[in-house]
Amino acid sequence: MEIVNSNDSYYCVQGTAVSEQFSKMTRQRRVILDTLKGMCSHPDAMGVYEAVRLELPSISLATVYRNLEVLYRAGLIGRMETAGSRMRFDALPEEHCHVLCDRCGQVRDVNAGGAAKVNKEYIRKATGYKVTGQKIEFTGICPDCARKQGTAR
Ligand SMILES: [Zn+2]
Ligand SMILES: [Zn+2]
Repeated sequence: MEIVNSNDSYYCVQGTAVSEQFSKMTRQRRVILDTLKGMCSHPDAMGVYEAVRLELPSISLATVYRNLEVLYRAGLIGRMETAGSRMRFDALPEEHCHVLCDRCGQVRDVNAGGAAKVNKEYIRKATGYKVTGQKIEFTGICPDCARKQGTAR
């Protein structure tokens, strides 16, 4: 599989999607969605909660959890399950690849284009499975950590 390794392949969704679902949203849910869309860090629920509290100081962690779940089920946000760590939430609902830094845990989105679809079809043909999702995750050392490592010497 080919991953385009340029800055163009990293993206973060900004701004607001206008949809029917959106107009039915409570203010809390809307703030939660907007907050997550503005974060590229793939935060866990606690990270979202802390950011949302800046705008809604009285919101509870339970409310944030519940709304993240609703937004996920509505297909407006994505989720990221990584072995050994908490559930993280993703501003991008569509399938994409991730690259994780082993040192600091930073996550970057990588748009792998049509590769994911080709793989799904391949798996279906090869195994007869109805493929409902795919996760492709790479690990490594991010440029920041690489730089720190370089200057520490
Ligand atoms: Zn790092
Ligand atoms: Zn992502």
